[in-house]
Amino acid sequence: MGKVYLTGAGPGDIDLLTVKALRVVREADVIIYDRLANPDILKEAKDGCEFVYVGKADGRHTLPQDQINEVIYQNALKYDNVVRLKGGDPLVFGRGGEEAKYLKERGIAFEFIPGVTSAISVPAYAGIPVTHRGVAVSFKVVTGHEAPNKEHSQVDWESMKADETIVFLMGLHNLGNIAKNLIRIGRSEDTPCAVISKGTTPEQKSVTGTLADIHAKVKAAGIKTPALIVVGKVVELKKDLEWINEKD
Ligand code: SAH
Repeated sequence: MGKVYLTGAGPGDIDLLTVKALRVVREADVIIYDRLANPDILKEAKDGCEFVYVGKADGRHTLPQDQINEVIYQNALKYDNVVRLKGGDPLVFGRGGEEAKYLKERGIAFEFIPGVTSAISVPAYAGIPVTHRGVAVSFKVVTGHEAPNKEHSQVDWESMKADETIVFLMGLHNLGNIAKNLIRIGRSEDTPCAVISKGTTPEQKSVTGTLADIHAKVKAAGIKTPALIVVGKVVELKKDLEWINEKD
Protein backbone atom coordinates (compact mmCIF):
# COMPACT_ATOMS: atom_id res chain seq x y z
CA MET A 1 0.00 0.00 0.00
CA GLY A 2 1.23 3.44 -0.89
CA LYS A 3 1.25 6.81 0.77
CA VAL A 4 -0.79 9.77 -0.35
CA TYR A 5 0.65 13.28 -0.29
CA LEU A 6 -2.19 15.80 -0.10
CA THR A 7 -0.22 18.59 -1.67
CA GLY A 8 -0.75 22.29 -2.26
CA ALA A 9 0.26 23.45 -5.74
CA GLY A 10 0.26 27.15 -4.89
CA PRO A 11 -1.85 29.81 -6.59
CA GLY A 12 -0.49 29.69 -10.15
CA ASP A 13 3.06 31.05 -10.34
CA ILE A 14 5.08 27.84 -10.42
CA ASP A 15 7.84 29.47 -8.38
CA LEU A 16 5.42 29.54 -5.45
CA LEU A 17 5.44 25.73 -5.30
CA THR A 18 7.11 24.63 -2.07
CA VAL A 19 10.38 22.69 -2.10
CA LYS A 20 8.63 19.81 -0.37
CA ALA A 21 5.82 19.71 -2.96
CA LEU A 22 8.36 19.71 -5.78
CA ARG A 23 10.17 16.79 -4.14
CA VAL A 24 7.06 14.61 -3.89
CA VAL A 25 5.97 15.56 -7.42
CA ARG A 26 9.35 14.38 -8.75
CA GLU A 27 9.02 11.08 -6.88
CA ALA A 28 5.34 10.46 -7.69
CA ASP A 29 4.11 7.32 -9.44
CA VAL A 30 0.75 8.99 -10.04
CA ILE A 31 -0.46 12.58 -9.73
CA ILE A 32 -4.16 13.24 -9.25
CA TYR A 33 -4.69 16.91 -9.99
CA ASP A 34 -7.22 19.71 -10.11
CA ARG A 35 -8.11 22.40 -12.60
CA LEU A 36 -6.45 25.05 -10.44
CA ALA A 37 -3.07 23.38 -10.17
CA ASN A 38 -0.63 24.86 -12.70
CA PRO A 39 -0.20 22.09 -15.34
CA ASP A 40 3.48 23.03 -15.78
CA ILE A 41 4.09 21.34 -12.43
CA LEU A 42 3.33 18.00 -14.10
CA LYS A 43 6.38 18.47 -16.33
CA GLU A 44 8.48 17.91 -13.20
CA ALA A 45 7.20 14.34 -12.82
CA LYS A 46 9.45 11.39 -13.61
CA ASP A 47 9.08 9.34 -16.80
CA GLY A 48 6.20 6.92 -16.56
CA CYS A 49 4.30 8.88 -13.94
CA GLU A 50 0.57 8.58 -14.46
CA PHE A 51 -1.68 11.66 -14.49
CA VAL A 52 -5.32 11.64 -13.42
CA TYR A 53 -7.44 14.78 -13.86
CA VAL A 54 -10.32 15.22 -11.42
CA GLY A 55 -10.90 18.92 -11.94
CA LYS A 56 -13.86 20.90 -10.83
CA ALA A 57 -15.07 24.21 -12.14
CA ASP A 58 -16.41 26.66 -9.55
CA GLY A 59 -18.15 24.12 -7.38
CA ARG A 60 -19.56 22.27 -10.38
CA HIS A 61 -17.85 18.98 -9.86
CA THR A 62 -16.47 17.13 -12.83
CA LEU A 63 -16.33 14.17 -10.48
CA PRO A 64 -18.32 14.16 -7.24
CA GLN A 65 -16.12 14.34 -4.14
CA ASP A 66 -16.88 10.77 -3.02
CA GLN A 67 -15.68 9.50 -6.38
CA ILE A 68 -12.51 11.58 -6.12
CA ASN A 69 -11.91 10.04 -2.69
CA GLU A 70 -12.29 6.60 -4.21
CA VAL A 71 -9.94 7.40 -7.13
CA ILE A 72 -7.25 8.48 -4.66
CA TYR A 73 -7.80 5.34 -2.57
CA GLN A 74 -7.64 3.00 -5.56
CA ASN A 75 -4.39 4.62 -6.68
CA ALA A 76 -2.94 4.20 -3.20
CA LEU A 77 -3.64 0.45 -3.47
CA LYS A 78 -1.77 0.39 -6.76
CA TYR A 79 1.18 2.75 -6.31
CA ASP A 80 3.77 3.63 -3.66
CA ASN A 81 3.84 7.40 -4.10
CA VAL A 82 0.53 9.08 -4.78
CA VAL A 83 0.40 12.86 -5.08
CA ARG A 84 -2.95 14.56 -4.78
CA LEU A 85 -2.20 18.02 -6.17
CA LYS A 86 -4.59 20.86 -5.42
CA GLY A 87 -4.58 24.58 -6.18
CA GLY A 88 -3.34 26.83 -3.38
CA ASP A 89 -3.39 25.06 -0.02
CA PRO A 90 -5.11 21.66 0.23
CA LEU A 91 -6.97 22.61 3.41
CA VAL A 92 -8.26 26.06 2.46
CA PHE A 93 -11.53 25.25 0.70
CA GLY A 94 -9.65 22.35 -0.81
CA ARG A 95 -11.48 19.39 0.77
CA GLY A 96 -8.13 17.90 1.71
CA GLY A 97 -9.51 17.02 5.14
CA GLU A 98 -12.28 14.92 3.64
CA GLU A 99 -9.85 13.07 1.41
CA ALA A 100 -7.50 12.40 4.34
CA LYS A 101 -10.36 11.08 6.45
CA TYR A 102 -11.46 8.71 3.70
CA LEU A 103 -7.92 7.36 3.39
CA LYS A 104 -7.40 7.07 7.13
CA GLU A 105 -10.60 5.04 7.50
CA ARG A 106 -9.16 2.60 4.96
CA GLY A 107 -5.72 2.32 6.57
CA ILE A 108 -3.86 4.41 3.99
CA ALA A 109 -1.04 6.64 5.22
CA PHE A 110 -1.10 10.27 4.16
CA GLU A 111 0.75 13.55 4.61
CA PHE A 112 -0.49 17.10 4.24
CA ILE A 113 1.87 19.34 2.30
CA PRO A 114 0.60 22.88 2.80
CA GLY A 115 0.70 25.23 -0.16
CA VAL A 116 0.71 28.96 -0.68
CA THR A 117 -2.97 29.84 -0.55
CA SER A 118 -4.47 32.19 -3.12
CA ALA A 119 -6.29 33.95 -0.26
CA ILE A 120 -3.11 35.76 0.77
CA SER A 121 -0.78 35.46 -2.21
CA VAL A 122 -3.16 36.73 -4.89
CA PRO A 123 -3.84 39.98 -3.00
CA ALA A 124 -0.06 40.27 -2.45
CA TYR A 125 0.61 40.00 -6.19
CA ALA A 126 -1.91 42.81 -6.68
CA GLY A 127 -0.19 45.00 -4.07
CA ILE A 128 -2.73 44.41 -1.29
CA PRO A 129 -1.48 43.30 2.14
CA VAL A 130 -4.29 41.47 3.98
CA THR A 131 -3.21 43.14 7.25
CA HIS A 132 -1.48 46.50 7.64
CA ARG A 133 -0.59 48.37 10.78
CA GLY A 134 -3.25 50.97 11.49
CA VAL A 135 -5.49 49.78 8.64
CA ALA A 136 -6.56 46.18 9.34
CA VAL A 137 -5.57 44.04 12.31
CA SER A 138 -7.36 40.90 11.16
CA PHE A 139 -8.56 39.16 8.04
CA LYS A 140 -11.12 36.55 7.26
CA VAL A 141 -11.32 34.07 4.39
CA VAL A 142 -14.91 33.24 3.50
CA THR A 143 -16.63 31.13 0.87
CA GLY A 144 -18.45 33.30 -1.62
CA HIS A 145 -20.06 30.29 -3.19
CA GLU A 146 -22.91 30.00 -0.74
CA ALA A 147 -25.82 32.18 -1.78
CA PRO A 148 -26.07 34.90 0.90
CA ASN A 149 -29.86 34.82 0.80
CA LYS A 150 -29.96 31.09 1.50
CA GLU A 151 -32.33 30.37 4.37
CA HIS A 152 -29.90 28.58 6.66
CA SER A 153 -26.68 30.32 5.72
CA GLN A 154 -23.56 29.01 7.42
CA VAL A 155 -21.82 32.27 6.60
CA ASP A 156 -22.09 34.69 9.51
CA TRP A 157 -22.74 37.97 7.70
CA GLU A 158 -23.33 39.87 10.94
CA SER A 159 -19.74 39.12 12.00
CA MET A 160 -18.45 41.13 9.05
CA LYS A 161 -19.38 44.51 10.49
CA ALA A 162 -15.91 45.02 11.92
CA ASP A 163 -13.33 46.94 10.00
CA GLU A 164 -11.34 43.91 9.00
CA THR A 165 -10.23 42.54 5.66
CA ILE A 166 -12.51 39.94 4.11
CA VAL A 167 -11.33 37.70 1.29
CA PHE A 168 -14.05 35.82 -0.56
CA LEU A 169 -13.05 32.75 -2.55
CA MET A 170 -15.37 31.20 -5.15
CA GLY A 171 -17.48 34.36 -5.10
CA LEU A 172 -17.22 35.89 -8.56
CA HIS A 173 -20.68 34.76 -9.69
CA ASN A 174 -22.13 35.94 -6.40
CA LEU A 175 -20.39 39.32 -6.28
CA GLY A 176 -23.57 41.37 -6.55
CA ASN A 177 -25.18 39.53 -3.63
CA ILE A 178 -22.05 39.68 -1.52
CA ALA A 179 -21.77 43.46 -1.94
CA LYS A 180 -25.49 43.92 -1.22
CA ASN A 181 -25.28 41.83 1.94
CA LEU A 182 -22.27 43.70 3.29
CA ILE A 183 -24.10 46.99 2.74
CA ARG A 184 -27.22 45.52 4.39
CA ILE A 185 -25.30 44.62 7.57
CA GLY A 186 -23.86 48.11 7.78
CA ARG A 187 -20.60 48.23 5.84
CA SER A 188 -20.38 51.57 4.07
CA GLU A 189 -21.10 51.71 0.34
CA ASP A 190 -17.70 53.37 -0.04
CA THR A 191 -15.84 50.39 1.43
CA PRO A 192 -12.96 49.67 -0.98
CA CYS A 193 -13.05 46.35 -2.89
CA ALA A 194 -10.86 44.57 -5.37
CA VAL A 195 -11.50 41.60 -7.59
CA ILE A 196 -8.40 39.81 -8.80
CA SER A 197 -8.55 37.23 -11.57
CA LYS A 198 -5.90 34.61 -12.41
CA GLY A 199 -3.66 36.09 -9.75
CA THR A 200 0.09 35.30 -9.81
CA THR A 201 -0.15 34.18 -13.46
CA PRO A 202 0.81 36.19 -16.57
CA GLU A 203 -2.92 36.79 -17.08
CA GLN A 204 -3.48 38.43 -13.70
CA LYS A 205 -6.07 41.18 -13.88
CA SER A 206 -7.56 43.26 -11.13
CA VAL A 207 -10.42 45.70 -10.82
CA THR A 208 -10.89 48.01 -7.86
CA GLY A 209 -13.96 49.89 -6.74
CA THR A 210 -16.35 50.16 -3.82
CA LEU A 211 -19.13 47.95 -2.53
CA ALA A 212 -21.50 50.18 -4.49
CA ASP A 213 -19.85 49.90 -7.91
CA ILE A 214 -17.59 46.82 -7.92
CA HIS A 215 -20.16 44.51 -9.47
CA ALA A 216 -20.78 46.75 -12.48
CA LYS A 217 -17.06 47.41 -12.95
CA VAL A 218 -16.20 43.71 -12.86
CA LYS A 219 -18.94 42.95 -15.38
CA ALA A 220 -17.72 45.68 -17.70
CA ALA A 221 -14.15 44.40 -17.48
CA GLY A 222 -15.22 40.84 -18.37
CA ILE A 223 -13.36 39.33 -15.42
CA LYS A 224 -12.90 35.56 -15.57
CA THR A 225 -12.52 32.79 -12.99
CA PRO A 226 -10.62 31.93 -10.91
CA ALA A 227 -11.04 35.22 -9.13
CA LEU A 228 -11.21 36.34 -5.54
CA ILE A 229 -12.71 39.37 -3.85
CA VAL A 230 -10.96 41.53 -1.26
CA VAL A 231 -13.05 43.88 0.86
CA GLY A 232 -11.64 46.48 3.24
CA LYS A 233 -9.45 49.54 3.63
CA VAL A 234 -6.29 47.60 2.74
CA VAL A 235 -7.42 47.80 -0.90
CA GLU A 236 -6.52 51.52 -0.83
CA LEU A 237 -2.86 50.55 -0.33
CA LYS A 238 -2.82 49.00 -3.78
CA LYS A 239 -2.10 52.28 -5.56
CA ASP A 240 1.15 52.64 -3.59
CA LEU A 241 2.14 48.98 -3.38
CA GLU A 242 1.38 47.66 -6.87
CA TRP A 243 4.47 45.94 -8.18
CA ILE A 244 3.21 44.01 -11.21
CA ASN A 245 2.21 45.61 -14.49
CA GLU A 246 -0.99 43.87 -15.47
CA LYS A 247 -1.81 43.48 -19.12
CA ASP A 248 -5.05 45.09 -20.33
N1 SAH B 1 -7.30 25.75 -1.98
C1 SAH B 1 -7.32 26.97 -2.77
C2 SAH B 1 -8.70 27.57 -2.86
C3 SAH B 1 -9.71 26.66 -3.50
S1 SAH B 1 -11.27 27.43 -3.74
C4 SAH B 1 -6.32 27.95 -2.19
O1 SAH B 1 -5.83 27.77 -1.06
O2 SAH B 1 -6.00 28.92 -2.87
C5 SAH B 1 -11.08 28.08 -5.38
C6 SAH B 1 -11.09 29.59 -5.33
O3 SAH B 1 -9.80 30.09 -5.01
C7 SAH B 1 -11.42 30.26 -6.66
O4 SAH B 1 -12.81 30.30 -6.88
C8 SAH B 1 -10.84 31.64 -6.44
O5 SAH B 1 -11.70 32.42 -5.61
C9 SAH B 1 -9.60 31.34 -5.62
N2 SAH B 1 -8.39 31.26 -6.46
C10 SAH B 1 -7.59 30.21 -6.60
N3 SAH B 1 -6.54 30.51 -7.41
C11 SAH B 1 -6.71 31.80 -7.76
C12 SAH B 1 -5.96 32.71 -8.57
N4 SAH B 1 -4.82 32.34 -9.18
N5 SAH B 1 -6.43 33.97 -8.73
C13 SAH B 1 -7.56 34.36 -8.12
N6 SAH B 1 -8.31 33.56 -7.34
C14 SAH B 1 -7.88 32.30 -7.16
